[in-house]
Amino acid sequence: MPKLFAISDKPTIIAGPCSAESPQQLLSVAESITRDSRVTMMRFGVWKPRTRPGGFEGLGEPALQWADDIHRIHPTLRLCCEVARPEHIELCQQYRIDAVWIGARTSVNPFLVGELAEALRGSGIAVMVKNPITPDIALWLGAIERIQQAGIQDIAAIHRGFSTYNNFGYRNNPLWEIPIELKRRMPELPILCDPSHIGGRRELVASLSQMALDLHYDGLMIECHPDPDNALTDSQQQITPAELATILDSLKLRSLNETGPSDLQRMREQLDVIDAEMLRLLAQRMKISRDIGTIKHAHNMPIFQPHRWKQVLEQQMQAARELGLDEEFVRELTEKIHGESLRLQKK
Ligand code: PEP
Ligand code: MN
Repeated sequence: MPKLFAISDKPTIIAGPCSAESPQQLLSVAESITRDSRVTMMRFGVWKPRTRPGGFEGLGEPALQWADDIHRIHPTLRLCCEVARPEHIELCQQYRIDAVWIGARTSVNPFLVGELAEALRGSGIAVMVKNPITPDIALWLGAIERIQQAGIQDIAAIHRGFSTYNNFGYRNNPLWEIPIELKRRMPELPILCDPSHIGGRRELVASLSQMALDLHYDGLMIECHPDPDNALTDSQQQITPAELATILDSLKLRSLNETGPSDLQRMREQLDVIDAEMLRLLAQRMKISRDIGTIKHAHNMPIFQPHRWKQVLEQQMQAARELGLDEEFVRELTEKIHGESLRLQKK
């Protein structure tokens, strides 16, 4: 059997509902996406890890049985679902599920990943490993290595964003530098992006997908539902099959050769991502600064406090030394940022 996941110019597109809800729902999505030759695999969840109890937790094995009908009606469509326990893998094998993914709340746990890896050994099922919820590249790498050590070769990583103190308007902070570093450490490993769980809002799916393609991801996993507003899970981020087709039409696949050697191109794209990230952080910093200004005005405090400024500068100089950055450069940068903060607080 050829591998399901490979590094190629043509991205692997996986689409399907967050959760399997009824045979009609699954069949309706399968019918729409098989009409589009770009989509080769359908996703659906039957065991849903919910952050809080009481939500819809998936229909379990009965929903997996519907896979039989889909295989019969659409024999070329590959099927994948999330697994979190060894028993889930046995059932996926029984119902001929082609690929499984280990979710973000599971890939964070080395014991569980180890048990899943053993259950997957020799199963012939392809495996996707989502990034753990915490922004820790070692945990993500470790989960992938545990799957590899069980002799599984058809593997991909899925970037679905991270839980951070501030998610900057995303449901899960993308922190693009982490998947970029994963790609550097494991260049042979295909990496897919899940813009639905990063964005958490359907309006963000198109731009996040384009960003992923610009960074040479090998595919996308997009949540797609016939009636997103009434979906039992993740209703705000799911899109209809028609919206999916529009997004896929709009995506630009950039050619590596347009602007020079591929390494140069990739590194420039990394710089662009970092530059955009720096601006977003600066905007965040200025907002906090303005809020501090309001408090200072309310308490009749001076805007500029020399001891505080001394402390900020010393902190930054210490960090500059630790990071091997030029101290003069960091001093100038810090003064510039501080000056802008004062200007905003004066307003
Ligand atoms: C999902 O894919 O529906 C899911 C629960 O994803 P994650 O593990 O990324 O939260
Ligand atoms: Mn979901």
